[in-house]
Amino acid sequence: MSDDHGHRVLAPATIRFCPLCGAPLAPEPVPPDQREQQVCSRCRFVFYLSPKVVGATLPEQDGAVLLTRRSINPGRGLWTFPGGFVDFGESAPAAAIRETREETGLEVELTGLHNVYSYPDAPVIVVYTARVVGGRLTTCEENDALEWVGPEAVPWDALAFQSTREALREWVAARGRTPGG
Ligand SMILES: [Zn+2]
Repeated sequence: MSDDHGHRVLAPATIRFCPLCGAPLAPEPVPPDQREQQVCSRCRFVFYLSPKVVGATLPEQDGAVLLTRRSINPGRGLWTFPGGFVDFGESAPAAAIRETREETGLEVELTGLHNVYSYPDAPVIVVYTARVVGGRLTTCEENDALEWVGPEAVPWDALAFQSTREALREWVAARGRTPGG
């Protein structure tokens, strides 16, 4: 299965073998709600396919927010804010701080929960506001530009994701301006 861009789409039926014992998986109703899941024919392992979680930040300084321009797909050439997948054994706030360091070179401290964004076919995105406490602006392999942007200068026509647009609209609205996009 693939989406409009030719990417392979992960869905329960595309997971064919048990990650524990290697035997084939087959769809089966699973208690207590009897919803169908992929179940191992040998060891009975149930493969629950669930959304991943992204931790992200809106780093703020002098009334501006730090945006990054993506140099990889999805969203190549478009703007978003720092963030990435939460690792196994890591918390969402820790991932947000780590990803911000990796993508911008800045050390940040979280100042609050901005909002959580969830859509049927996307990761759950947890966005924190943050302030810079150290480091130096540095691009990375995933982005080729970093820019501090005030509420009036958000590039509404060049944002990478639906969550980027919604988070920035709410960020601008919270600062008493009318979002332009
Ligand atoms: Zn198994």
